[in-house]
Amino acid sequence: MRIHPGLPALLLLAACSGPESPKTATTPPLPDLLASHVDSSVNPGDNFFLFANGAWLKANPIPASESSWGIGNLVVEELRTKIRTINEEAAKAHAPAGSDQQKIGDYWGTGMDSAKADRLGTAPLNELLQRIDGITNAQQAFAVAGELNRAGAGVLYGGGVEQDPKNSTVMAVSLGQGGLGLPDRDYYFNTEAGVARNRAAYPGHIARMLMFLGQDSATAAKAGAAVFAFETELARNSRTLDQLRDPWANYNKMAVAGKLKATTPRLDWRAQLDSYGLAQCDTVIVGQPEFLAAVDALLQRTPATTVQNYYRYHLLSAFAHALSGPIDKESFSFYGTRLHGQQQQRPRWKRVLDSEGGDIGMVVGKVFVKDYFPERSKQRYTKLVEAVRSAYRNRINQLDWMSAATKEKALAKLNAITAKVGYPDKWKDYSTLRVDTASYAANVLAANRWHFDDQVAKWGKPVDRTEWDMTPQTYNAYYNPSNNEIVLPAGIFLLPGLPDSLADDALVYGYAAASTIGHEITHGFDDEGRQYDASGNLVSWWTAEDSTRFTQRAEVMAKQFDAYEPIPGIHINGHATLGENIADFGGIELGLDAFKKTEQYREGGKIAGYTPLQRYFLGYALGWLHQQKEESLRSRLLSDVHSPAQWRVNGPFANVPEFYGAFHIREGQPMWRADSVRVKIW
Ligand SMILES: [Zn+2]
Repeated sequence: MRIHPGLPALLLLAACSGPESPKTATTPPLPDLLASHVDSSVNPGDNFFLFANGAWLKANPIPASESSWGIGNLVVEELRTKIRTINEEAAKAHAPAGSDQQKIGDYWGTGMDSAKADRLGTAPLNELLQRIDGITNAQQAFAVAGELNRAGAGVLYGGGVEQDPKNSTVMAVSLGQGGLGLPDRDYYFNTEAGVARNRAAYPGHIARMLMFLGQDSATAAKAGAAVFAFETELARNSRTLDQLRDPWANYNKMAVAGKLKATTPRLDWRAQLDSYGLAQCDTVIVGQPEFLAAVDALLQRTPATTVQNYYRYHLLSAFAHALSGPIDKESFSFYGTRLHGQQQQRPRWKRVLDSEGGDIGMVVGKVFVKDYFPERSKQRYTKLVEAVRSAYRNRINQLDWMSAATKEKALAKLNAITAKVGYPDKWKDYSTLRVDTASYAANVLAANRWHFDDQVAKWGKPVDRTEWDMTPQTYNAYYNPSNNEIVLPAGIFLLPGLPDSLADDALVYGYAAASTIGHEITHGFDDEGRQYDASGNLVSWWTAEDSTRFTQRAEVMAKQFDAYEPIPGIHINGHATLGENIADFGGIELGLDAFKKTEQYREGGKIAGYTPLQRYFLGYALGWLHQQKEESLRSRLLSDVHSPAQWRVNGPFANVPEFYGAFHIREGQPMWRADSVRVKIW
């Protein structure tokens, strides 16, 4: 194998598979991972995604319990197995009350006790259900919405405490749109046949859920229709995915007693904030003022019964996974099967671990990284981040469309990006979160409230920039503009079933440096991220000319993706997905620049029939080895700012000059784009 000692390929994989497997002369050679996925019946110029991944996709149909299947799922399967062991050991340990082990053990124990969940029915939610029953007018309805949002059942509006986008050193209360049960606003109006069919089935699902609370079928059917009409009004007044991506248009600072009161005269925000312990908070940032104004009007004219049923439905829906079997199954049949194409549920233990990840994942993560992510991996990934950063520095310096003044600020921002790798340096204190043996739903409720209160308690305090919004065992990563940081959890570095000895640099630079690290760093400079400065503040630091030039270049990409139509009748939304598409494209270019500095690239020897450059592109495509059910694709197209996997490969590659040479893409082939319409940004 052409792995140069000390280069990141070995380092990356060592992190994932624990101790290196012993290499002996008798070990039979394994097939090359990249070459084994290739479908040679597909011409790379026709559809590179299918060329690179087709053999694997054909041989690995989506299991009945999944809505999609690919490399991320394989990693998550491995992670779940490890985390299950952590849970089972914690459950056996009978650790002291309040300890991390006790919390993990009791969460797992109650989660796996399906008989108890069946016996309890909706009883764990009685206190909240009674609050809903007691509503007689709009004012009470609004107060109860505050309690439900704290409990994790998002109704009526959204909000929280986060860094003020224009002053990242201060925590601010934000308020905005929310409270929908379908995947996104557009799902209420899109006319494509599948969307229309699913939308038509939604009121029936609401009705069946309400019947678990004792409503007869006729009453519940009427209620289902009324709740759907209510949500449709919320949706009508909600902004679209692409409108939400304009940080200036979604920033409206308002005095609680001034503009907020004028916008929503009958919603008592003062009382709402006071109930959360935010009596001192007199200013909030409103994302979508017209939405809150619409809620104000809607609450006045909607009968209390409809609002009550809307609340009941959302409460039951949010907790369905932790309630009795029949409630869980009804919820699954709508959201899992109808909206995402899952034919059957995952085994209970997997569902419990997925829920645990959201509720007390950081507690589990602390144990996870101790066992599975050594310190040397953390240091090595940090080095790969620096290789990508250095590639970006060179690119910015060489840009022909950006002025020296903007370049200087862009470089300052790039240099200031913080990289959080693997797991937090400082673990969050969960000592006040109580998890016990009362019931699964009670533990979920306690965790939801704890997280809400924890977030609210940050108001008025200095910003803690050491915090992580993802757990270490997450197969994902993010860029946070307010902290100007990339956060790369340990989980994202796992490569399933690949021995170190088979991972060459080309694969690793394509897979990790491009699709993860380069992608996240580029988010700092995508159409949205670029509007925040080195300190994380939303401020215009670009010259007007440079800003115009950037937008012109980004528009080429929006147009490119607008033309893609993964489901007849539903196109990719080029503006909603623009930031992600720019990040993918930038990541590929940065990873490639960094890869060109490796010995493997310079030597140019083939592995399994592919040149280093070809393997780099195949390595990137490996990151999007993924297929999904049509139902899932439909939901995602209307609610996700990421393009579907196939277009995350084929879209950006069609703009990369080296790709054309590497695979001999010729004019007239579907992957070919004329130079005049190729995107050129970073
Ligand atoms: Zn992204």
